[in-house]
Amino acid sequence: MTTAAIIVAAGRGLRAGGGIPKQWRPLAGLRVADWTIDRFRGQVDYIVLVLSADDGPAWAEFENTDLILASGGNNRAGSVRNGLAALAELAVDHVLIHDVARPCVGLPTIQRVLAALNAHPAAAPGLAVTDALWTGDGAIVTGTQDRSGLFAAQTPQGFHYDAIVAAHAAHPGGAADDVEVARAAGLDVAIVPGDADNIKITRPEDFARAERILGTDMDVRLGNGYDVHRFGDGDHVILCGVKVPHGRGLQGHSDADVGMHAVTDAIYGALAQGDIGQHFPPSDPQWKGAASEIFLRHAVDLAGKMGYVISNVDCTLVCEYPKIGPHAPAMRDEMARIMGLRADQVSVKATTSERLGFTGRSEGIASLATACLVKS
Ligand code: MG
Repeated sequence: MTTAAIIVAAGRGLRAGGGIPKQWRPLAGLRVADWTIDRFRGQVDYIVLVLSADDGPAWAEFENTDLILASGGNNRAGSVRNGLAALAELAVDHVLIHDVARPCVGLPTIQRVLAALNAHPAAAPGLAVTDALWTGDGAIVTGTQDRSGLFAAQTPQGFHYDAIVAAHAAHPGGAADDVEVARAAGLDVAIVPGDADNIKITRPEDFARAERILGTDMDVRLGNGYDVHRFGDGDHVILCGVKVPHGRGLQGHSDADVGMHAVTDAIYGALAQGDIGQHFPPSDPQWKGAASEIFLRHAVDLAGKMGYVISNVDCTLVCEYPKIGPHAPAMRDEMARIMGLRADQVSVKATTSERLGFTGRSEGIASLATACLVKS
């Protein structure tokens, strides 16, 4: 059984405030879209992210990742059709269609929808309405509505792939959601229990509510790293992956990248998984002269295997010379590239020690780093 999820993220959603589409606004250390995408990782075989042509940075960020990208259409239904088309060659059996603005969807909800598709051509989470319902005219109640048999519709809405493709092709447009499209094509849609926490971010105050929901099962871990390498002969140093010309070199078993070593140890520290020396023993000749990128990549991969994403990293280099400032942006970009992070999640800065101590006497360079890891 091959499964896929389509996350519709092409809307402009400015009603939620902040001046940018809500899916790109920050939420509990990530962005709304990041949370939503992560919810489906490991639950389906393919994830399609439908993006607006106006979201250029997102296109650049997500190409060459595990996601399949599709262009938004003129309206939501058009975006869904483009997302379905992006799966045309992949022999998908069951597809989930989800609003990017529902980042709090729980795994049980996703699994209930997928399970229901084994017995039904379509299934979607719904919450029975429990509040009394009124009709109103401005500020005045004009009547009471019977709530029996009413459900609040949620996503992900799940379908047999071929059936929903045909249903969308036949629909004249104007449907409220994909369930309406499916029903218009004669498909039976099973209702599975929804989740009150599966809120749709619509208004400004919904961000705080979503953060409270996500925070209840969020595991945030900090780690620190510290490293020192001694100066010796040479004509350059390698700091945070960048070659910096200097009258001396740094000594060490690997490339002696003191900044990258501190960051790597900070990640191992946050995971409570020892340090570089444990994973890459200096006694092992295969690491002689090794690029420290290997160590950092290993720590990042280990974090991913343990279910953590790196929220941010901060690294401080301590030396009198070489001057770090002119190279700091390149160092930040290189570290972000290696870790698969955005540049704004990585900080590289420097200080002197006022000519005091071993760094002050230019006997070597020290580095400190902090890493913050998040598991949702
Ligand atoms: Mg070291």
